[in-house]
Amino acid sequence: MPRLHVLVLVVILFLLTLGLTGSLRQPLTRPGAVVVVVDAGHGDHDAGAVVAGVKEKDVNLAIALHLFALARWEPRVEVVLTRASDRYVELKDRVGLADQVGAALYLSIHANASADKGICGVETWVDSTRRPDDPSFRLAAEVQQAVVHATGATDRGVRSQPLYLSRTKLPAVLVEVGYLTCPEERDRLTSSLYQEKVARGILQGILAFLGGP
Ligand SMILES: [Zn+2]
Repeated sequence: MPRLHVLVLVVILFLLTLGLTGSLRQPLTRPGAVVVVVDAGHGDHDAGAVVAGVKEKDVNLAIALHLFALARWEPRVEVVLTRASDRYVELKDRVGLADQVGAALYLSIHANASADKGICGVETWVDSTRRPDDPSFRLAAEVQQAVVHATGATDRGVRSQPLYLSRTKLPAVLVEVGYLTCPEERDRLTSSLYQEKVARGILQGILAFLGGP
């Protein structure tokens, strides 16, 4: 095959792969940068919590996109998103992507809901099958502290329960960035400015975990 045809074929295959996986990667691979997979929870038919017309999947995605944009200015990390649009990705494929791209850690973004409207605040979760000395707990502590610091939200602490994050051996956490059932928090979580604050907090937590200021 002529060289040009091979090139065209490679480009088409690349675009097809991109279309199939739909994950979003920084355009410039940074030498020495640590790859981090960030997941916006839910998507498409799976809206997650829906409160007063606010869908969790949209809040999660908006924060993930802010995080992706902020990380472009951070040479130490390269963020890969499991989804960059309103689409559903199987849980096994979300964590599978982290193993596939050789990520140093996996972080999933969610928003919470409760029958009690008075409950507001941030929680970071670790899968309960992890041993107490698993680095996921340190990652969770750093992210929790940084998000609370960046947003001024109530600190509901690091928690543990059985999660799909058990599917990977990488340090993995799930951040519940706030309660959609808490009216004030719901209002904040739909504001782009606040979403960016949350994203900045998550990024700072990741950097602290990786050993930076
Ligand atoms: Zn969720």
